[in-house]
Amino acid sequence: MRTVVLFILSLSLGITQGFAQAAAEVAIQNYTKANALLTQSITKSGGLEKLNQATRFDLIGTKYFFGHFDTPEKSIPVKDTSKIAFFPAMDLSYLYSTLNYRGDRTKIIFQQGDSTRYFGYFSDDFTIGANLSERNQLNVLWPARMLLLAHRFKKTLAWVGEDKLQQILAFNDLTGTRFNFYLDKSTGRLNKVTQLAYHELYGDYLDVITYEYSDGNTFTPNKVSHYERGLLEAMYQYQNFKPNPIVDSAFVKAICPTCTMAELGTGKPKLTFTKIDEKLGIIALEHLDNKVLLAEFESYLVVFEAPRNVEAGKAIIAFLKEKYPNKPIKYLAVSHHHPDHAGGLNAFVDIGASIITTPGNQAFFNKLLNATHTLKAENGVKAKPASFKMVPPKTAFNLTDPSNSVKIIEAGEGTDHVKEFLFFYFPKQKLLFVGDLVLFPGEGVMDQSQRALSVHNLIKTQQLNVEKIYTSWPLHNQKTYGTMEDLKASLAKNYPDLNK
Ligand SMILES: [Zn+2]
Repeated sequence: MRTVVLFILSLSLGITQGFAQAAAEVAIQNYTKANALLTQSITKSGGLEKLNQATRFDLIGTKYFFGHFDTPEKSIPVKDTSKIAFFPAMDLSYLYSTLNYRGDRTKIIFQQGDSTRYFGYFSDDFTIGANLSERNQLNVLWPARMLLLAHRFKKTLAWVGEDKLQQILAFNDLTGTRFNFYLDKSTGRLNKVTQLAYHELYGDYLDVITYEYSDGNTFTPNKVSHYERGLLEAMYQYQNFKPNPIVDSAFVKAICPTCTMAELGTGKPKLTFTKIDEKLGIIALEHLDNKVLLAEFESYLVVFEAPRNVEAGKAIIAFLKEKYPNKPIKYLAVSHHHPDHAGGLNAFVDIGASIITTPGNQAFFNKLLNATHTLKAENGVKAKPASFKMVPPKTAFNLTDPSNSVKIIEAGEGTDHVKEFLFFYFPKQKLLFVGDLVLFPGEGVMDQSQRALSVHNLIKTQQLNVEKIYTSWPLHNQKTYGTMEDLKASLAKNYPDLNK
């Protein structure tokens, strides 16, 4: 009896797992399809670069007011003139609308980054907040903006369905609004955007924006209409396009005194270079609290460690390309597989550098190198396959030319950190570069144990003549390098017999 129950239980578990697997595949297939359709539409409309160009235009048309009039559902047409600008590179956009209804009334929507400022036709003051949904009233007025948003929030992208003429995709923006968008099957153009909405009296309804184009080739619409609850709410003509517009800074200053126009450079990697001698230097990654060692040889460069992510890897490469325009990065050597040491791998493989590592990391690194990166295409690797230079456990090899030399030693056993670990020893400089394992705090002595001991053991067993020990992590609140005395001091308490 018990066996039967167990059998049925295991059978049903197996089926459940099968379903879960199938569901996961359906989900990824759906995303892949939606992504391909979006990419196609973006490409047809001139690509991301084109969509990211700044735009300024006017919308002139009629708004229909559904007010407190004499009969139910009566609306009154009112003239509306809006000035609209999008500056995608600065993530800044604004709308300034003048409505003629019992005198001139103004509506302003201003957004920079995730912050929105809204002043309605009947407002007394600005509403200011992160992620105000009013920003969408502006976004939906420009198809290129909607495509960019779909691309930005790709992670939420889904294929909804299709009709005879259109493919229908959906995504969620940062306000949580779910947009459905209708892409023309033949042109790839955005025909329509809808969102599910709710009205206190009328209940559920679909908010609809439609775009019209003057001919079959252009991606710039000439007309936009807005329908609420199936009723026309507004209709505008696009006019007065301004090529290469600039930000109206007086207007921005008036709306948003705290907004800055120079936020383009924020969040970018910050690198500083410090020479150790003619052939060695440290690249400090200030924003990641990490360091990388650079070794210059006669005809090439070697980078030791690739912290954290592809962006950092690319920043290091760009930095070195400017500093050493005639020397390629031939090798990237990583001490071990952790992300703060190997996370930037893809960037180096992409420029054709060989990776110096240990055999135990090859399968893992290949997995990283072959991952798809549609959500962040710039992180993918184009140059494949990767070339590896393997250092098997308990072996060493030398990279040497008349100008410089490094001995790369595998000694992971006993590090109490990873199975396989590469140490980098530079005999000319009497310098040991250690990816992890030991800390040299800016002030005082820090008692350390097995990891730091493994560094000491390596120096002893390999009979290395070491004067300076450089580390890759952390950057801040550390000495520039540690000496043998510093290393011994950090071990003195836990290993009192060491110096006997
Ligand atoms: Zn580590």
